[in-house]
Amino acid sequence: MTELADLSELARRRGFFFAANEAYGGTAGFYTFGPEGAALKRNVEDVWRDHFIRELGHMELEAPTVMPEPVFEASGHLDTFDDMILECGDCGATHRADHLVEDAVADIEDAEALEPTEVADLVAEHGIVCPSCGAPLADRPIEEFNLMFGTNIGPGSSSPGYLRPETAQGIFVEFPRLKEYARNQLPFGVAQIGRAYRNEISPRRALVRVREFTQAELEHFVDPEYDDPPLERVADVELPLYSAAAQQDDGDLEHHTVRKAVDEGVVGSEWVAYYLGESMSFYEDIGVDTDRFRYRQHLPGELSHYAADCWDAETEVGGTWVEVTGFAYRSDYDLRKHAEYSEEEFTVFRQYDEPKTVERATVDPDMSYLGPTFGDAAGDVADALEALARRDRSAFAGDGVTVEVDDESYTLPVEKTGFAVEERTESGEHITPHVVEPSFGVDRLVYSVLAHRHGTDEVDGEERSFLALPAEMAPTSVAVVPLMTKDGLDDRAREVAEELRAAGLEVAYDDTGNIGRRYRRQDEVGTPYCVTVDYDTLKEDTVTVRERDSTEQERVAVDELPSTVRRLTAGATLADL
Ligand code: AMP
Repeated sequence: MTELADLSELARRRGFFFAANEAYGGTAGFYTFGPEGAALKRNVEDVWRDHFIRELGHMELEAPTVMPEPVFEASGHLDTFDDMILECGDCGATHRADHLVEDAVADIEDAEALEPTEVADLVAEHGIVCPSCGAPLADRPIEEFNLMFGTNIGPGSSSPGYLRPETAQGIFVEFPRLKEYARNQLPFGVAQIGRAYRNEISPRRALVRVREFTQAELEHFVDPEYDDPPLERVADVELPLYSAAAQQDDGDLEHHTVRKAVDEGVVGSEWVAYYLGESMSFYEDIGVDTDRFRYRQHLPGELSHYAADCWDAETEVGGTWVEVTGFAYRSDYDLRKHAEYSEEEFTVFRQYDEPKTVERATVDPDMSYLGPTFGDAAGDVADALEALARRDRSAFAGDGVTVEVDDESYTLPVEKTGFAVEERTESGEHITPHVVEPSFGVDRLVYSVLAHRHGTDEVDGEERSFLALPAEMAPTSVAVVPLMTKDGLDDRAREVAEELRAAGLEVAYDDTGNIGRRYRRQDEVGTPYCVTVDYDTLKEDTVTVRERDSTEQERVAVDELPSTVRRLTAGATLADL
């Protein structure tokens, strides 16, 4: 079996994740996390929370998953959050055109960055056929398909809304409240862990490309002129970096410390380098195999127009690389857009060290002229004049001045605007913060950890399948198993399990099947320790503690068991006991 098939089989059989709604034929792109998977995912989220919120002193919020249409007009998702769709003329199956090209053409890894016409040419040139029925796709049109799930807010269709395609917008739109909460002091970070929805054209590879998934995103708002990242925290962290230059020249991964990556300009943004450094220990802690892990820089064609430098963290699963996190310096793009489209201010006040005398362009429009001339639009024209004066005073240099309001142009004589340039003493200025964003896909992380930690070996002449999860990540910390279900062994085992639960541990009790099979079951869901209650327990109140990875056992007094399990899960080994 391939690694991926193996993983899906294990995930289904042991209750990590499985395709949702199978009773009704299944729904592509939706997965249910079973009891083991939900617990593992929660542990990944808790470790993330610990690293990126608690330790760094950031805040966490929880915003709605449905947001009104104007939010996505402002963010650009309504216009540009599209993938290229290609529908087969014979069987009607729909495919992502860029993925078909990537699968068929050896040296193209990122066809998403190409224009639809270029992708269409490649489909024709390489004779690409429909993966579902084999019909040629050469003459089929390639269209843009918006990935957002639409809905109506309330009855009727007057208030369209969308399921958020990323959690970030829920943070950006609340910036005016959040900055007050941060007492108007930059820098501050706001994080959110929550569901995001994308109507992917072709969901694939289990949890890798799904239509509903969990993101853990941090938006760090900074003053671009004055705020520097605390690089010293991570200066010596080694990063496996796959730069754009290396990708273009068939080069290799290079290992640099964060300090060197910044000094030599391998990572262009200090803030991005800082978060690459902060994230490395997070990946290690959740159990990603760092030999199957890299940070890949976006190629020039992949970069969003507003992003100065972007890197993705990628894990290798089943022979291909999977993007698990995007690290972007997003400049002031998001806040500026929401300021433009909404009625709120998305700025903070930057206090000068000393008051400054500055020139300010102002307007004082003659409303007795604007009112009769522009009617209902007069107020908006006055506001637009004020904004224009602040932005571009040269617009008032001629006899007339033109402003745009709701796609309409309004021209009036400059003398009616009351335009003037004044000297003022100011104690500070309003600036739009810049945003540094690490954006993690939790489902892909869970998938990578399962793939990287799953292994097989031989125990007592039999093949064993195990999940070598770090103890902190394991859904169950300790399983209690009675040797037999007679002579009171099972009753005592239940009591031991209760005592461990009362001590705050995640405990499983298992008395079905032979003891070897029960150990195998726990090994396969990653339980690091099994406690066996046997006849000596009844005599001298001791149990054996069995270690998943070595399968070695040690006898421990029952009254010391909770503290012993705690020491073990914190990193001690059986030999240390
Ligand atoms: P993006 O906003 O596209 O950079 O996505 C941020 C992160 O969300 C990625 O690094 C992925 O880990 C995750 N992600 C994006 N799309 C999907 C998807 N369809 N299924 C699962 N995870 C996704």
